[in-house]
Amino acid sequence: MVTSEKNICQSCGMPMKNMTDFGTYKDGCINTDYCHYCYDEGEFTDKEISLEEKMAKNIRIAVKMGMSKVDASNLATNVIPSLWRWRKSNKVKHPEK
Ligand SMILES: [Zn+2]
Repeated sequence: MVTSEKNICQSCGMPMKNMTDFGTYKDGCINTDYCHYCYDEGEFTDKEISLEEKMAKNIRIAVKMGMSKVDASNLATNVIPSLWRWRKSNKVKHPEK
């Protein structure tokens, strides 16, 4: 599969270039909206995660990959809340904690 557009995961913002980067539906079809770290066989791998936790997790991963903590935090706070997964969930009422 060749995509001319740049695909980024709509859960974590990771750029996806190869087939193996994409998540999969239950029937094995490729889900081009999410990466395989976030979405696998029809489900989010981290279903219960909150936006804040997802950002923190991403910052940790980016820092591990060599990004500075400041850059990683900026990227996570700018990109992740605007992705589909999190915009949709904002409309859902969260139960009181
Ligand atoms: Zn992802």
